[in-house]
Amino acid sequence: MTAEPLRVLVVEDDPQMRRYLRASLSGHGFAIDEVGTLAEAARALADRGASLVLLDLGLPDGDGIELVRRLRPHDQVPIIVLSARGRELDKVAALDAGADDYLTKPFGTAELLARMRVALRHRGAAPLAADVALEVGPIRIDHARHEVTVGGALVHLTPLEFQLLELMARNAGKVLTHRHLLREVWGPGAVEHTHYLRVHMAALRRKIERDPARPQWLVTEPGVGYRLRDLPP
Ligand code: CA
Repeated sequence: MTAEPLRVLVVEDDPQMRRYLRASLSGHGFAIDEVGTLAEAARALADRGASLVLLDLGLPDGDGIELVRRLRPHDQVPIIVLSARGRELDKVAALDAGADDYLTKPFGTAELLARMRVALRHRGAAPLAADVALEVGPIRIDHARHEVTVGGALVHLTPLEFQLLELMARNAGKVLTHRHLLREVWGPGAVEHTHYLRVHMAALRRKIERDPARPQWLVTEPGVGYRLRDLPP
């Protein structure tokens, strides 16, 4: 544990949810700062800052997405959105605005802590040198050789598949939206073409996954995008 506790700003107006978050985070080395509105959140960030923000989307004085839009791109504090079940469009909008991840209520403490670790790690990570190999589970991506192995066996990927896998691997553990993946791999003109993604993701799964019908690594986040797991399921 570091000497200085990580400060988590909880932006949530539901007292029950706040109580749950407080109970979940206490004892894990976090200092918790709680606010219930967008205005208080902006003030807390300006006054005290935060190592990570847990952000409810439905707040009394507006939508949590507004806070994400206001903070990005000048403030790179990790933001995890807490959203109600079935609000896929809200999650996608928050991620596209620059949130790091989302959790669907209700969620467990283990899941919360795991996602927080991933978000903190990504923001703290130094940019990867182009010649460094990336490893995620059994998948190893060698940038210099432009080679991918799975469990030590070489797999042949098309340039697009390689680019897609590399992008997912750089963001292992994090959900990437359809729009984000399409923009990064195919370009800004392709953000609506989700079928490109479906086709290439299926091809990638056939090469990477033991059972492509039940992917263990390249998992679908329904209505949102895809996530390359950084830990075995
Ligand atoms: Ca709320």
